[in-house]
Amino acid sequence: MQDNARMESWQVLQWGRPLQKVLGPRPEPKGTEVLVRVSACGVCHSDLHIRDGAYDLGAGRSIELGRIGIHLPLTMGHEILGTVVAAGPDAPPVEPGTEGVVFPWIGCGACRHCRAGAEIDCETPISLGTRRPGGYGQYLLVPHPRYIVPCPGIDTLVAATASCSGVTAYSALKKLPPCRDGDTLVLIGAGGLGLAALGMVRRLHPLARIAVVDANPDKLRLAAGQADAVFDIGAAASGSALRDFAAGGAAGVVDFVGVPQTFDWGLAALRKGGMLVVVGLFGGGTHVSIPLLPMRNLRIAGSYVGSLAEFHELLELLRDPALRTAPIQTRPVDEINAIFDDIAQGRVAGRVVALHTHPIPKPM
Ligand SMILES: [Zn+2]
Ligand SMILES: [Zn+2]
Repeated sequence: MQDNARMESWQVLQWGRPLQKVLGPRPEPKGTEVLVRVSACGVCHSDLHIRDGAYDLGAGRSIELGRIGIHLPLTMGHEILGTVVAAGPDAPPVEPGTEGVVFPWIGCGACRHCRAGAEIDCETPISLGTRRPGGYGQYLLVPHPRYIVPCPGIDTLVAATASCSGVTAYSALKKLPPCRDGDTLVLIGAGGLGLAALGMVRRLHPLARIAVVDANPDKLRLAAGQADAVFDIGAAASGSALRDFAAGGAAGVVDFVGVPQTFDWGLAALRKGGMLVVVGLFGGGTHVSIPLLPMRNLRIAGSYVGSLAEFHELLELLRDPALRTAPIQTRPVDEINAIFDDIAQGRVAGRVVALHTHPIPKPM
């Protein structure tokens, strides 16, 4: 095999173990597929869960990823920036050299959800970096050129990370009920997702007052400049303090953490008719008093990433530099295991994007 037909990928070969660099064949695009040369890929906190192969469901139960269609060896990486270098015979015309973000949340294209435009609810998704090889390889196949989203006028690294944390925050905020003057919205968790949401929440809910909740004083300080109030979830009186601030309770809460403490706190923070949207996947289980849901007319919803249409809407918003709040640092992809350790230990403020190096192409 010629060298130019090979590629390097960082792969999970064993659940829970460090990624390994693997040299393998570069794939050929078939049908409507396009081959993308990856220049950069954001490193997402959820990659740590995926590498470990399981999500904690609480009460001693867990989801084993191997049982929901995620198999080894796996090339992760779903915040992908790259350039189209080849297209399959049935792909609509796409200029080689087109650069863009590769939208990763892709459905099978054939089921009733996909055909109805609700690809995100596909039961057999082919998402990049989880179900199909992702951006920690030098090249990847994308099922159709419509998932390559050029983003002129936006910092390309910002756009790449927006395809996961950004669109997740955006889609969750869109699910909240419209707010009247004086309503309060609460964002639980001032990490990457929460700060992304804080940056854009006033564009979607301009009448709402915004409260941010976390247990980490540094993160609360970071959020305090943009929020109307911040609350330390670890403080005993934080629940009653929030209800005082919100004149009885919040119209909406987004839980970007997703552990029993944050879920319980968020549900208790709602006023009648309020809505809790759960986004975080840290895991666990909790007890819910069933009669309170009808008596208080409450809604609980889950929100998982976002749609391609929402990603296009988000890129329009991100043309405003004021919305790009999370700092981004770049590191070589060969440091991927050290990057994971730094994220796991909480040593990263903002986001890390891993950069690939490619040999300079030889002239034809
Ligand atoms: Zn992600
Ligand atoms: Zn489908």
